Amino acid sequence: MRAAMRPLPLLALAVTLGAALPALAEAPKVVASIKPVHSLVAAVMEGVAEPALIVRGAASPHTYAMKPSDAKALAAADLVFWIGPELEGFLDKPVTANARQATSVTLLEAPGVTLLDAREGGAWEAHDHGHEHTHDHDHKHDDKHAHEDDHGHDEVNTHIWLSPANARAMVAAIAEALTAKDPANAAAYTANAERTARSIDALDAELKAALAPVAGRPFVVFHDAYQYFEAQYGLNGVGAITVNPERRPSAKRLSEIRAKIGGLGAACVFAEPQFEPALVNTIVEGTPAKKGVLDPEGADLKDGPGLYPALMRNIAASLKDCLGS
Ligand SMILES: [Zn+2]
Repeated sequence: MRAAMRPLPLLALAVTLGAALPALAEAPKVVASIKPVHSLVAAVMEGVAEPALIVRGAASPHTYAMKPSDAKALAAADLVFWIGPELEGFLDKPVTANARQATSVTLLEAPGVTLLDAREGGAWEAHDHGHEHTHDHDHKHDDKHAHEDDHGHDEVNTHIWLSPANARAMVAAIAEALTAKDPANAAAYTANAERTARSIDALDAELKAALAPVAGRPFVVFHDAYQYFEAQYGLNGVGAITVNPERRPSAKRLSEIRAKIGGLGAACVFAEPQFEPALVNTIVEGTPAKKGVLDPEGADLKDGPGLYPALMRNIAASLKDCLGS
């Protein structure tokens, strides 16, 4: 009888120590690449642990350079969530070299994520001829789902999180990867993922109603990050200042866009906090277009589960404010 009772005080101690954390086991160390991905991962991990984030503040994944602390976080990681090398090119080598222990989850390839082709032609087209970036016009567009190599999505728009349906698919993939790595907390991941999916649905309905009055009104963006958002809400993005945000647009490109604002009837030109706002001032000067700001990454927003819905609401509010008045 005494012998059988012996383990009890130990068990009671463990329960007392663990009382502050609902987690049933040591949670996996998780790294997320960009704020929107981090937000969805944080939502699924709520109550278990917090993921680390690489691209912080107003930094852009298009121009990011890895820091030593990022390499350290990757080296310690069990799981890395990112969109894929087509967006976070800076992570391509480190995920192999630094995050050797980690499972890498590229959300661009998550089941249920719908991909849109990068737009070409007219005001979406790059016109800075002569640089080393080759734009392969012979590329077959019908093979975008074939993963024949690591970079099979060069012609795909990588800003997949700006579609609520894609965000839901990402949440499902995140929960699945977490559960596979950490089955002890499966119930928490499943419950969090279901709750997050429901709130994304409610957000989608809210944004649909909010944006209906400005559907179809033409506008110009800094870079073509909003294609998924536009498709979902019937919005009319007619061009981008730069097709490749890794490069500053040429003077020629800027004057072309300026000339096109009149022709396209763009009511607004949107800057982004990740890039130089002076460019947008130059472009709208002397045109009837108004200036706005759109932020596809959540530069000024607090990291965590609330960032994703705040980011989506901010984009909707900016579009509505500028296009609706
Ligand atoms: Zn982008």
